[in-house]
Amino acid sequence: MPVRRSTMRRVASRMRRAARAWADASRTLVRRAFYAGTRRECPVCGHSARRFLAYGLVPRDDARCPSCGSLERHRFAWLYLAQRTDLFDRRPKRVLHIAPEACFAGRFAERIGSGYITADLRPQFVAESIDLERIPHRDDSFDVVYCSHVLEHVPDDRRAMAEMRRVLRRDGWAMILVPITSERTIEDPSITDPRERERLFGQHDHVRRYGPDFVDRLEEAGLGVTVATVSQLVGAGDAARMGLTASAGDIYHCHRT
Ligand SMILES: [Zn+2]
Repeated sequence: MPVRRSTMRRVASRMRRAARAWADASRTLVRRAFYAGTRRECPVCGHSARRFLAYGLVPRDDARCPSCGSLERHRFAWLYLAQRTDLFDRRPKRVLHIAPEACFAGRFAERIGSGYITADLRPQFVAESIDLERIPHRDDSFDVVYCSHVLEHVPDDRRAMAEMRRVLRRDGWAMILVPITSERTIEDPSITDPRERERLFGQHDHVRRYGPDFVDRLEEAGLGVTVATVSQLVGAGDAARMGLTASAGDIYHCHRT
């Protein structure tokens, strides 16, 4: 009996996943048809649209790709990865992707292959459940670590940075991105009330706001940082076409020092 019940649960869960995937695909097709046009182009999925969707708690117009769901920062990161890194060169490499973005995970897996590892604190939808402050991997074990918009949630971000450096191979690199929303980094570990965190740090589960001094923290953790802006990568026309507004932020491309 228990076997039969667990089999039924597995089948039910598979059916729920299939129904969800079908509903997602249907919604994407409807959105793609509704936003059909050529004024916008998403470098992540390659689809064009007349405009991107509004997105955010305080909605930003023209932000989210109607086909793959990419936001400004994803499209900028994709361009940077394609143009300035070896991530997509199809050579075997070990890549640790922390909190994988839905618009990236499948595309990274297809290009990187078996060395691609997804990880998150929560085990759903990833290969490994990982606490960034204690990464359960040996020193020098990854060619690439990709971690975007995660550290603002992590209590001891300095330790997490040191951990990411530790697991990087000597000639490896990391892309570590955070939202820069303050003139200086502000944090207060004594503030744990979600409403107070939202008021001070912009989101109920954020533990700080970062300023441009984020780079100093990376450097203190033993990482050399190349900062790249949208205008260094594409002209104004392409930036507008791909929806790379100020919300795209900057790229922090890190190497071991
Ligand atoms: Zn897209």
